[in-house]
Amino acid sequence: MQTVSNSIIVEKVKHSKIDKVDFNNLSFGKYFTDHMMVCDFKNGAWEVPRIVPYQPISLDPSAKIFHYGQSVFEGMKAYKDKDQNVWLFRPLENQKRINISSKRLAMPEFPEDYFMDGLKALLKLDQKWIPTAEGSSLYIRPFVFASGCGFHASPSDEYKFIIACSPSASYFAGKVKVLIEEKYSRSANGGVGFAKAGGNYAGQFYPTQLAVEKGYNQVIWTDDNNHEYIEEAGAMNIFVRINDTLITSPTSDRILDGITRKSIIDIAKDENIAVEVRKITVKEVVEASENGSLKEMFGAGTAAVISPIATFGYQGRDYDLPEIKNSYASTLKKRITDIQYNKAEDKFGWRYQVEV
Ligand SMILES: *Cc1c(COP(=O)(O)O)cnc(C)c1O
Repeated sequence: MQTVSNSIIVEKVKHSKIDKVDFNNLSFGKYFTDHMMVCDFKNGAWEVPRIVPYQPISLDPSAKIFHYGQSVFEGMKAYKDKDQNVWLFRPLENQKRINISSKRLAMPEFPEDYFMDGLKALLKLDQKWIPTAEGSSLYIRPFVFASGCGFHASPSDEYKFIIACSPSASYFAGKVKVLIEEKYSRSANGGVGFAKAGGNYAGQFYPTQLAVEKGYNQVIWTDDNNHEYIEEAGAMNIFVRINDTLITSPTSDRILDGITRKSIIDIAKDENIAVEVRKITVKEVVEASENGSLKEMFGAGTAAVISPIATFGYQGRDYDLPEIKNSYASTLKKRITDIQYNKAEDKFGWRYQVEV
């Protein structure tokens, strides 16, 4: 049956598959909810978004996504509080950012009302899929790709915008060991590093595999020029604590403007933690580790929120971070997740309630 709500066309599943999912064993991004939102760009305009049963999509072999990689995405989460209210965290930041990414890949921007109305209608329909165990959430993946045909190396004339959702457990990476990269780069000046483009990830996989073979979990990306500055941790922004100062690299062409990153900066300032947004040299991190002033290093991003680093490797040597009580990582993670799960006051106005 098809209904129209908020100018979104809705086609519901006949039978939910939710009973087949073991909510005690979710891991990350493995199961998908009953529905997805799909919107097509044709003849120079976005058509009306549709919510349809989650299903495979069929594409022509010449679709430009396969050949020229025009594709960008977002990552966000929906949270349920103890009263079953549904919340998003700064969703308009994701909405704006996907359009910043699209623009860089010569793809059409997606209207704000389609994004928000489509997302809300989808969450309303699949609200039972939002898990409630401590630290779990519904991971939301909006993405756009070139669906138009032809081998000509030029921007596609057709695109698909999709939102798919996956119930996910709390994300614990364990003791993360990272390798400071000296050869490869994930981005360059004038490049697409600031965009959440699929190809950025494809380019990261091989150097990361090499690091994994050496016994590390992730790569710390450095600048493409001299590999002198640390810039990101895998697909997360990076923070370093030297003595009691929290330092993070400034965003640029090469560094993604993470929503978790900027939320951490605001919360840290609110906690009266000294914050510096400036370039961080590999040299100062190594020296700080050697003289004992390096207290913490962590990655920041939507999936893990904060992922503390236990060890970093550089030029054949491993440097261990100290284990400290009341770390900035744990204080900041608690403050941010308490806002996300509606457990604490939201003085910044970041929480966004979804009427279900
Ligand atoms: C998504 C992403 C981040 C984190 O951004 P959030 O908005 O905090 O999720 C950081 N770096 C890269 C390269 C990313 O793709």
